[in-house]
Amino acid sequence: MTTYAYDFSFGDKDQKDLLGGKGANLAEMTKLGLPVPPGFTITTEACRHYLSTGEPPAELSEQVRERLSALETAMGRRLGAAEDPLLVSVRSGAKFSMPGMMDTVLNVGLCDATVEGLAQQSGDSRFAWDSYRRLVQMFAKTVLGLPGDVFEEAIDDAKERAGVSADVDLDTDALRDLVKRFKELITTHTGHDFPQDPHEQLWQTIEAVFRSWNSERAVLYRRTERIPDELGTAVNIVGMVFGNLGSDSGTGVAFTRDPATGRRGAYGDYLANAQGEDVVAGIRNTIPLHRLGETDPNAYNALLRAMDTLESHYRDLCDIEFTIERGKLWMLQTRVGKRTAAAAFTIAAALCEEGVISADEALTRVSGEQLSRLMFPTFDAPEDATPVATGVPAAPGAAVGVAVFDSRRAVERAAAGDAVVLVRRETNPDDLPGMIAAQGILTSRGGKTSHAAVVARGMGTTCVCGADELTVGADSMRTSDGTVINEGDVISVDGDTGAVYVGEVPVKPSPVVSYFETGEVGEDDALVHAVDVIMRRADGARRLAVRANADTGEDAARARRFGATGIGLCRTEHMFLGDRRQLVERLVLATSDEDRDAVLGELLVLQRDDFVEILSAMDGYPVTIRLLDPPLHEFLPSLVDISVKAVTEPSEQTEELLAAVRRMHEQNPMLGLRGVRLGLMIPGLYRMQVRAIAQAAARLRADGGDPRPEIMVPLVAAARELAIVREWTKSILDEEGIDAPVGTMIEVPRAAMTAAEIAEHADFFSFGTNDLTQMSWAFSRDDVEGSFFSEYLELGVFPVSPFAELDTSGVGRLVAIASDEGRERRPELHLGVCGEHGGDPHSIRFFHETGLDYVSCSPFRVPVARLSAGQAVV
Ligand code: ADP
Ligand code: MG
Ligand code: MG
Repeated sequence: MTTYAYDFSFGDKDQKDLLGGKGANLAEMTKLGLPVPPGFTITTEACRHYLSTGEPPAELSEQVRERLSALETAMGRRLGAAEDPLLVSVRSGAKFSMPGMMDTVLNVGLCDATVEGLAQQSGDSRFAWDSYRRLVQMFAKTVLGLPGDVFEEAIDDAKERAGVSADVDLDTDALRDLVKRFKELITTHTGHDFPQDPHEQLWQTIEAVFRSWNSERAVLYRRTERIPDELGTAVNIVGMVFGNLGSDSGTGVAFTRDPATGRRGAYGDYLANAQGEDVVAGIRNTIPLHRLGETDPNAYNALLRAMDTLESHYRDLCDIEFTIERGKLWMLQTRVGKRTAAAAFTIAAALCEEGVISADEALTRVSGEQLSRLMFPTFDAPEDATPVATGVPAAPGAAVGVAVFDSRRAVERAAAGDAVVLVRRETNPDDLPGMIAAQGILTSRGGKTSHAAVVARGMGTTCVCGADELTVGADSMRTSDGTVINEGDVISVDGDTGAVYVGEVPVKPSPVVSYFETGEVGEDDALVHAVDVIMRRADGARRLAVRANADTGEDAARARRFGATGIGLCRTEHMFLGDRRQLVERLVLATSDEDRDAVLGELLVLQRDDFVEILSAMDGYPVTIRLLDPPLHEFLPSLVDISVKAVTEPSEQTEELLAAVRRMHEQNPMLGLRGVRLGLMIPGLYRMQVRAIAQAAARLRADGGDPRPEIMVPLVAAARELAIVREWTKSILDEEGIDAPVGTMIEVPRAAMTAAEIAEHADFFSFGTNDLTQMSWAFSRDDVEGSFFSEYLELGVFPVSPFAELDTSGVGRLVAIASDEGRERRPELHLGVCGEHGGDPHSIRFFHETGLDYVSCSPFRVPVARLSAGQAVV
C-alpha cells in the first residue's frame, strides 16, 4: 500500500520530491530538535493522483485520519472539540519554492461551535474571533475562489463604523459582526454556507491546495522559472501556534546572512500580535528583527540559537519563518534562501573561506546567469531619484535614451545617432526592427513571457514590461501623476529592478567587468574578491578551453583580457564591407581572368593586413579563420537601388551591375550560393584568402611572433567539397612555407551524419550550432524570434529558445554523433563549438559531457563560459 501521508518525524531535507521543500525542511528541523509544531505532510504523489483523476487516492482519507489523531495526541487537543479545539494550518509546498504562488489556509478547525471554546481556553475572546475572521476570509478566497476585495471592503466598513483605523483596533463585537458578514457574503456568492464541520473544512482545503498547483499564476511562474508542470505540490498540515495572542506574541521572517551582501548575522522583520500572512501583506509596519532582542530577549536568543543550528547544518544562507506564542518560539519554515547574484558569490566565497564548504562546492553555489547579471552596467541612482513606474524586470541592464513610441521612428532616430528606448503598450512582431534598434524596451502590459520580454532577453536588450502605472499612447505616455512624456524626452529604464525614471540616471560600469579587464582585486571590494575566488577554482577545474568569436584586433584583445585562449571563429565577411564593396562589384563584373586576378590582387593586400592585426592580437593562441560564407550578392547594391540608379545615372557599368544583381538574385539565399559552394564556384576567392592568411603568418613569424592560424571552411555538406578546398589550401600554404590546420564547420545536418567521411579531410571540426539549429528546425533565427516564438514557449513546444540553449535531444544529438564518428575515424580530431551556445551555461555542460575540446563565444561571455566549463567538471 502506498503511503501518502508522513509525520514530520519521518522525513528529511533530501525528500523534496515526495514531501515538497517545505515539508522536507519541516521534517529536517524536527529531526534537529528545533521547536516545530507537530504535523504531517501529504505527498506530492497524492497531489498528482488528484490532478490526474480529480479524486484524492482512496487510501488517503484513512491515512489522514491516522496522522491527524497522532497530531491531536501530540497537541493534546481534538479537531472540532467544542471546549478546547485543535486548529491546524493547511500549507502548500512544492519541490521548488514558488513564493506566494499557491495557497495556504490558517486556523482550520474554527466554527461557531469551537470559537467560544478557543476564547475560553486562551482567555482572549478577541483573539478567538480574530482567528475565526481570518479563517473565513482565507477559506473564501483560496478554497471558494471569491474575490478578495469583497472582504477587504467589509473590513473597511467595519473599521469606519467602529471609528478605528487599524485591523488590530477592532474589538470582539466588531469581529463577531465581521464573521457574520463574511459568512453571508459566502452564502450569497456561492449559494452554500461556510462549512461548520472542521473535518469538511480540512478536506476542502486540502483539495484546494492540490488545485492551486494549476492556478494561473502558479503555471506562469513555473514557465518563467522552468519548473516542470508535472511535479505537483505536497500539503502540510501543521498544528497552529498563535502570534496574535497579544503583545508578547508575534511573527516574523529571518535570514542567517544578509541576502544582499552575504554578511553573516541575523537579519529580518518582526511584527508583534500578528499571524503569518500579516508580515507579507504589509498591513502594518514591521520592526527590524534585532529590536525583538530588546522586547523579548529570551525568545530572541532562542531564535538566534535556532538560526545558528540551521546555518551550520545547511552550510548556507537559510531563510526562516517563525512565530512567538506568549514568549515561546516556534519554527514554521526554513529553506536555503533565495539571494541576489552578488550575494550568491559573496556567500559562496565566504563559506569557502570560513572552511564550511570546499572550493568545488562554492563553485556549484553560483550560476553563469548570475555572473552575467553582474557584468551589466548598473544605475547609480541618486538618493532622491524616484521611479515614475515600476514594472517587471524582464531583461537586465541599465538603459538611458529618448522615449520613442513607434518602431519605425525608433529605427530612424537610432540611425540618426540617438540612444532610444522603445515604449509600447505591448510589442508584436511588427515592432522587431525598432526593438533591435533600441537600447531598452519598455511596455505597460505583459509579464516575463510576453513578446517584449522574450525577444529582449534573446537579444540581450534591457527590458521592463508590464509597467501598468503608465498609460502608453501612439506618440506619448502619461504617468500616474499626470506627467506627459513625449517622443524625444529622456527616460531611464532599470532592467534589474523594473524601475522607470524620467530623465537621465547616471550609469556606473560593473566592478566585475573592471576586474576581468584588469585582473585587479581591490582591498575592500567583497564582491570582486568573491568572483576572483570562484573564477580561480573554475579555471583550475575546467577541461574545456574557452575561445572567443572575434573579427577585429580590438575584440580579440578584449577577449584575451577576459581569459580567452584563442579565437574560435573569426568571420571574414565584414572585411568586404565599406569601401571594399566596390572591389566585390568589380569581382562580380569581371569578364576576363586578368580582370578578376587584378581585383583579387588588390583584395589580397587588404586581407593580409586584416589577418596581421588579428593574429598578432592573439599571438601564441589559435585563431580559427572562416573563409567567406555569405552569398556575394549581399555585398552588392539592392535591386531597388541599382534599378533607380540605372534610370537616374545611366551608364554601361550600372547596366551591367543591374544585370548581375538580377542574375544573382536568390529566393532563399540562406540555402543558396554561399559557404563552400561559393568557394568552389569562384576558386580565386578562397585561394586569395588562404594566401593572405599564410603571408600574414609568415610576416609575423619573421618578426619573431607566434601566429597560429587555423583555416575553416564553412557550410560543408559533403566530404568531397572539403577535400577539394583542402588540397588547394595545403598547396598554397606549402608555397608560402606555412603550416596550419585545415578544418570545417559542422553546421549542416548532412555533414554531421557523414562526419566520419568528412573527418578524413579535416584537422578539426567546429560546430556551428546556430546554422545547425536553423537547419534542423527549419526556421531562421532572424525571422522567427519575434514572431511565433512567444506562442511556441506558451504552447510548450520548447521550454526556451533553441537558439539560446542548445536543443540537446535534437541538435545536440547531431553534435554527439558527429563528434563520436569523427573521432573514431581520426582520433586526434580537434573539436570545438562556435555558435552562440558556446556562451550558454546549460549548453556548455552538454559540450563538456560530449567531449569537445573548447567552446567559443562572444568576448563578453568568455568569463561566463569559463565559469560554466568549471562547473561542468565538479
Ligand atoms: P507561503 O509558502 O506562502 O510562505 P506558508 O504555508 O508558509 O505560505 O504560510 C503562510 C504564513 O502562515 C507563514 O508566515 C507561516 O509562518 C504562517 N503559518 C503557517 N502555518 C502556521 C501554523 N501552524 N501556525 C502559525 N502560523 C503558521
Ligand atoms: Mg512560508
Ligand atoms: Mg553558418
